[in-house]
Order: sequence, then structure tokens, then C-alpha cells
Amino acid sequence: MPTPRLRFAPSPTGYLHVGGARTALFNWLYARRHGGQFLLRVEDTDKARSTEESTRAIFEGLQWLGLDWDEEVVYQGANVARHRADAERLVADGHAYRCFCTPAEIEERRKHAEATEGAFKYDRRCDRLPADEVARRVAAGVPSVVRFRVPDVQSTGWNDLVHGAISFPHKDIEDFVILRSDGTPIYNLAVTSDDIAMHITLVMRGDDHISNTPKQIMLYRALGADLPQFAHLPMIHGTDGKKLSKRHGATAVADWQHEGILPQTMVNFLALLGWSPGGEFNEVMTIEELVAKFDADGLLKKASVFDTKKLEWMNGQHLGRMPLDELGPLVARKIAADGGATEHELLARPAWFHALLELLRVRSRTVDDIVRQARPYLGATVTYDAQAAAKAWKEPAEARGLVADARVALAACTPWEPAAIEPALKAVAEARGVGTGKLFGPMRVALTGEANSPGMFDVLGILGRDVALARLDAALVELDRRIGAS
Ligand code: GLU
Repeated sequence: MPTPRLRFAPSPTGYLHVGGARTALFNWLYARRHGGQFLLRVEDTDKARSTEESTRAIFEGLQWLGLDWDEEVVYQGANVARHRADAERLVADGHAYRCFCTPAEIEERRKHAEATEGAFKYDRRCDRLPADEVARRVAAGVPSVVRFRVPDVQSTGWNDLVHGAISFPHKDIEDFVILRSDGTPIYNLAVTSDDIAMHITLVMRGDDHISNTPKQIMLYRALGADLPQFAHLPMIHGTDGKKLSKRHGATAVADWQHEGILPQTMVNFLALLGWSPGGEFNEVMTIEELVAKFDADGLLKKASVFDTKKLEWMNGQHLGRMPLDELGPLVARKIAADGGATEHELLARPAWFHALLELLRVRSRTVDDIVRQARPYLGATVTYDAQAAAKAWKEPAEARGLVADARVALAACTPWEPAAIEPALKAVAEARGVGTGKLFGPMRVALTGEANSPGMFDVLGILGRDVALARLDAALVELDRRIGAS
């Protein structure tokens, strides 16, 4: 067996869509699993729609996911001379012919056919032109396209790695154009010519390309090349069973990146859209585990469902497993962008920062969730969330009494650890004749500004004695103000 060579061949006409990323990933996983090569080909022959910005977005998306490619990127537009030469060779070998019918003539015949006998199929009239007439027209500069002559056999088929045996009857396939009158190649010729030149052994792509495959197989054969294997991956749907689109939320990989989804989550999640390792398995897998398990046997026929809830759940799982010295810089960068603290400030206190991450990541689904929840533990002061304060400080005088007693008890706590803090706060609650919940509510708003937070002892531990006491003092001032105003 030759080493597998696979490629991802995006058209650079937009961002990297999750469907494209899934195709890239499956090709990459297969290549890495089998010690083969994963190549990247930018299909930029459509000059009007291709942009450099899109090419860059595709590279960045692949890099973010960690899908590294082997060899230089191939730009399809640079190969037009070869595509043309292949078309000429097919003409010379009798597999293709020049067609002088103009688009207007074809259109007229199509309309006529559709009005009378039904579906239109090119009637091969130019294939019947005598050689000297063809030569005369070419010499006179009459524009022509090159059409591939569909062989006179029943059908063309292949054994698809996803769908099994597929076959297309030739009666439904007309002699298709492979070269336009301006000498530019049609998609099926360019792809086949490039896949042959790049020695691709397995073509894995979306199943929207299934109907192109018989034409490409005919071209391989006519060009005398070995056939690769084909695998056509099923569609990705939204949770409503419809084709995934913007209606379902973000469809660009970069959007998920900006939402705080980790690249390892995205890879894990995409890998399970149309593939399964089979049997009982844990859905949360590292990239290394995916490479070790991935194989064509596990490719699924059924459309897969892009469930954003599941993506977020999975991200929470990966967040929980990530080594802290990897997660730290990532969160620090986002906190810095959020304005809470500089990266330097955070990374200069690694033990404290790691404790904060440990505390917050179990309550988070995305990196952005962590950043949001970290806010109360960063700046010098907190902003009191209006709803949280309205509820926990509903009776400002009562809240003030509780916070003041807690402040006195905490000031006397040494060391600043749950073993000392817990009995001290319990004693405050008991003396006031309330449960600890009643005490912690007003304290929580005083310390974090919010109604929800990790456990009180964790919050006090992360804030440290000085900040905690200063926040209780600030809350007392605020509560006095509220008492005065009421
Ligand atoms: N450029 C084509 C596309 O983006 C893919 C071609 C192929 O994989 O054969 O749909």
C-alpha cells in the first residue's frame, strides 16, 4: 500500500465554515492515523469570488485547530497551463472534442427540449464535425469549448468509503465541458488534474460533490491515471434537522474561537460529526486519542447534528481537563483584553491565579465564562449588581448588622483559612439567630457584587484578608447610604 495522501481543497470565497473544517479535520486525522500526508490546495480558479482575505481566514482557522499541512500550499490557479494541456491531450487522444455551439444556441435548444421531450442533453453535434472543418474553424478563430466524450458504457461507479457502491448511468450524463472558450478549466477537470499531479490516494469531501465524482472518474481513466478512493461525508444539520446555516447560530470556526471555545473542543466536537469510534466510548477525547482511533470504518452515512449545547458542554469538559499552565495564559490574555488586570499582574501570582482558575473553571463552559466570573476578584472595588443588591440587601439595616458582625469576626481570624473562618462565621450567624445562608447572602454581594459565586470560604480565600475586609468596609458605607436614603 502506498502511503495515503489526502487533501483539503477549499474555495477561498468566505470564512472557514464548520462543514469545511470538518472535512479538513477528517482528511487530517486519516493522514495522521496512517502516517500519510495531508495537503492543502486553495481552489482559487474562480477569480471573481476568491479573495486573499478568505485564503488567510482558512489558513488561520486550520492553524487554530492545529491541522498542520505537509508540503507547500498548492494554488489551483497556478496550474491552469497543466489543466489546459490535459484538456488538449484528451482532445488529441480522442477522449474530448471541440464544441463550437454558442451559449445562446445551447440555451435555445435547452428551452426547446424542455418544452417538448423533457430534459436537455447535448446532442454531440460538434463531435460529428469532420477534422478539416474543426481545423478550419480553429484557424479562423471561432470560439470553442472542449467537451469530454462520455464513454459508451452503461455506467460509472465506485465503492465509496462512506456510502458503499454508488453508480451513475451514463444516459443521464451529457458530454460535459472541461475547458471554457477562454481556455480556463471547469471545476471537474481542474480538480482531477490537480489530484493526479498531487498523487492523492483518497478524496474525502462533502457529499454535495457525489454527482461530480463519476465525471472525475471518467477523466482519471481517460488521462490514464490510477483512481483514488472516494469518501463523501454526509451533511451537517442543525438541531431542527435542517441544513446547518446562520439561522442556527455561528457557522464560522472563528466565531466559536471568539466565543471562548477551545480548539481541542472544536476538534473533538467536529470529529464526532459523521464519525464514531464504535462501541461504548467516552465522547471527550484529546486530539491524540482521536488520531489513534480515527478510521474510515467509523465514518457514518447519516447526517450529523451540530448541537451548540453539546459543544458548550464539551468545552466545559475540556476546560476542566486542561493543564493550568496552558489555561492560565489563555485566560490571562482575555482578562487583559477585558480590562480586569494585565497579563503580567496575573502571571506574576501563579499560585493565586491557578487557584482562581480551579475555582471558576468547574463553573464555566467557555473561556469567556471564566473571564466574566473572574471580574469580582480582580479590581480594587466591585460594582453591586442592582438585582443582587435589591434582594440580598432588601432590609439595609439588617444587612448592615450582619455584614458589620462578619467584618469584626473575620478581622480576628488567624490564619486566614477555612478552619478559622468557618467557626467564626457560624458563631456570627448563631448570635444573630439566622442560618449561614442568611448571613452569606448580604456578604456575597458585599464581596463580589453578585448574587452567585463560588462557596463563601473559597471567595474569602481568593480575595485574601485585606481585600475582603476592605470590601466589607465599602459595603458598610454603601449600606449606610441606603439606610440614610430610605
Ligand atoms: N473546492 C471544492 C469546495 O470547496 C472542493 C473540491 C473537492 O474537494 O474536490 O467545495
